[in-house]
Amino acid sequence: MPVPFTESRGWALWDARVLHPRTEQYLQSCYLASRDSKWAAMKSTSAFRPRRRQVVHVGYGGDVVKRTNAAGLVLRSFEVSVHPNMIVALTSPEYPIVRVNTALETLLGLDREELVGRSCRELLGWADGAVDIDLHTSSDAVLTCRAGRREPFLCRLVVRPVPDTDGGRATHSLCTLRDISEQVPLQSAAGHLASHDSLSGLILSHILEENLATELVRAVHACSRVIVCYLRIDRFDMIDEVCDFTVAANLTRMIAERLTQCVDDPCRVSRTASGGFVAVFVSQDASIDQLDVGQSIAAALEPPFVLGSMTRRVTASVGVSCFPDTASGVHELLQQAAAAAYAVKRIGGNDVHAYTSTLDGDLGRQLKLADELDGAVQRGEMELVYQPVLSTAKREVVGMEALVRWRSPKLGFLMPDQFIPFAESLGMIEEIGRWVLQEACAQARRWLDLGVGDFTLSVNVSRAQMRGRQLLEDVRRALDASRLQASFLDLELTETAIMTNVEEATWTMRELRKMGVKLSMDDFGIGQSSLGHLQRLPVNRMKIDRSFVAAVPDDVNAARICRAIIGLAHEFGFSVVGEGVEKAVQLAFLERNGCEFVQGYLLSKPVSADAMLAILREPVLYPRETNGKSHNGAVLLVDDEQNVLRALARLLRRDGYRIFTASTFHDAFEILGTENVHVVMSDHRMPEGKGTEFLSRVKATHPHTIRLILSGYADLGAVTEAINGGAVYRFLTKPWNDDDLRETLREAMRMAQAAVSEA
Ligand code: C2E
Ligand code: MG
Ligand code: MG
Repeated sequence: MPVPFTESRGWALWDARVLHPRTEQYLQSCYLASRDSKWAAMKSTSAFRPRRRQVVHVGYGGDVVKRTNAAGLVLRSFEVSVHPNMIVALTSPEYPIVRVNTALETLLGLDREELVGRSCRELLGWADGAVDIDLHTSSDAVLTCRAGRREPFLCRLVVRPVPDTDGGRATHSLCTLRDISEQVPLQSAAGHLASHDSLSGLILSHILEENLATELVRAVHACSRVIVCYLRIDRFDMIDEVCDFTVAANLTRMIAERLTQCVDDPCRVSRTASGGFVAVFVSQDASIDQLDVGQSIAAALEPPFVLGSMTRRVTASVGVSCFPDTASGVHELLQQAAAAAYAVKRIGGNDVHAYTSTLDGDLGRQLKLADELDGAVQRGEMELVYQPVLSTAKREVVGMEALVRWRSPKLGFLMPDQFIPFAESLGMIEEIGRWVLQEACAQARRWLDLGVGDFTLSVNVSRAQMRGRQLLEDVRRALDASRLQASFLDLELTETAIMTNVEEATWTMRELRKMGVKLSMDDFGIGQSSLGHLQRLPVNRMKIDRSFVAAVPDDVNAARICRAIIGLAHEFGFSVVGEGVEKAVQLAFLERNGCEFVQGYLLSKPVSADAMLAILREPVLYPRETNGKSHNGAVLLVDDEQNVLRALARLLRRDGYRIFTASTFHDAFEILGTENVHVVMSDHRMPEGKGTEFLSRVKATHPHTIRLILSGYADLGAVTEAINGGAVYRFLTKPWNDDDLRETLREAMRMAQAAVSEA
């Protein structure tokens, strides 16, 4: 007979949430305290009813909890509990049983000698692999127990890991078994019990997996998509602990009903051994968005649940995966959905994440990264470097972009591409972004205090930071804390982040502009801007994506795009920053096309705050051009024969031109990139291709030049086409007449210089 544990032995319930007098930690569940204030670190399980301030029976104690002067009492309480309890060791995957109580002996009809030392996994019959229960985490499972001397019976297993005395990793778990066979109608027991979870009424996980496998085969034939949603009810443990068993069980059943309604088929929803839910959707619609499906599931849980006299709201961490988009098999699908749900849970729950490749493959490695990232900011592992931004008009540094780096003691030195996308998918980017803002503004203040003048400090803002009003608050705080004027700060928002939710982004941007902060649109050209939106965006600058700049001068299209972006930006009243400038030819190209600011390795790589200070004190990173107006224009001669080049240079120098020569098209483009060339004269037959084609490319990249062909070989078709297309102004033949050639050159030069002054 269980002994009611009340005040009779000198103990009374103190409070459900008491502060432990020695460890000064809140005790998680309910604890008992003696009247004379000697504490027993003892935990009651679900039998505790806080509302009635009453202890019905005691859960566990003994060697799994802190030994105090009440240790003997704890042991006896464990022993007399009405709950069939056992303590298992987590040190081996077999989970050996280290202690049992009388109630368990009675339930199973076995003596403790027969139980202690035995594998819990084998005892409860899940060694066959049908279900697997992780005893390291709090869980609640329903299984058919085949142990002992009685017939197999349905039981509920409640697992609670027991933290060690220092609150560290659990080495043991308390397992409570309840016989729930009477709660299920006897007649349905045989078939139903074998396939259904009696608590929720849903099918068991392994049955769902079998059904899912069949759905996948059907989906291949029907070209349909199968979407798997994994749900973890947020903080369900708390509901389970604070309310009594019936409330938690009813809530579970009601959640199960709502999910079943969502999928229209009870064979597509199950409850997992660890208490999560899986729902499977099949859709013929190829355009269906898996996130929408996940959101519809989350929405189904929004209305409050009425449980007798009380109502409860629940939220869930929902992860979604999709066949064939993200996974090709049952386990992969389930694992991906669970990984995505785990990612949501880590960031506080109540959200839906679709599985992405950032959560890919080696989940363990990802989790390690997530674990390391968690708290990295507080541990001071983040650093900022600064890359100078130059004005092409002044040819000096006018600002810098702050770029984050992570120096992890375990993972090494990481560049943003290695952790920012991951932090974004885990929802940790807000914290990092907040730190970057604060640190960058504080650094700007230090530079100003050291006497450097005006500059613009650019800080990258991720898409996730754009949601809601938090960004405004973070910016305000960073400016206030550093006493930095808002006009010093420029926020870089990527084109994609803005365009994904243009209404919300525009509102946030307007508010930022009201504060006096500048805004740049980062990585412009790779996103999907609509011109209608562009004209309404309150940005000051556009940053041309560095992939376009990198392709100049070799890729004619990239050059065209750069020019188009510059033109477009100016049309809308924005200035332009060219990013990723690595070559002189790229710098010259951007300058010539009116790009106001440049940034790139050619000028400076990202540097430390100290090095940036030195640059701010000596801001000229590249000199002014000195080849002003002391000549009558510049001519570029292109020919693979050196003697032709020499003869032409000798002849034309008489007319006061600056002469450049190139024996390949590649060299010619290098020169065009760095020098202000007016006239280009090329041979037609070159080893790399036709002169007409080369001049067509020159026309695209350097349209202000006047282009001539000088050739001993006439490909009439090509030449006519080039002339008609405007790529070639004149066609001259070899051998040439000196006077005619000089006259043609003079005419071409006049035209080129007229075009420049018009522009
Ligand atoms: P971004 O904002 O477009 O930054 C420019 C990136 O280009 C930086 O890479 C910079 O080091 C690199 N870069 C600059 N000049 C050159 C060049 O001449 N050649 C080449 N190949 N690269 C050049 P980084 O530091 O690796 O940053 C990569 C991206 O990570 C940034 O692209 C930005 O989107 C993101 N990021 C960096 N810091 C932060 C941050 O604090 N918050 C957020 N949300 N994102 C950040
Ligand atoms: Mg940037
Ligand atoms: Mg960029």
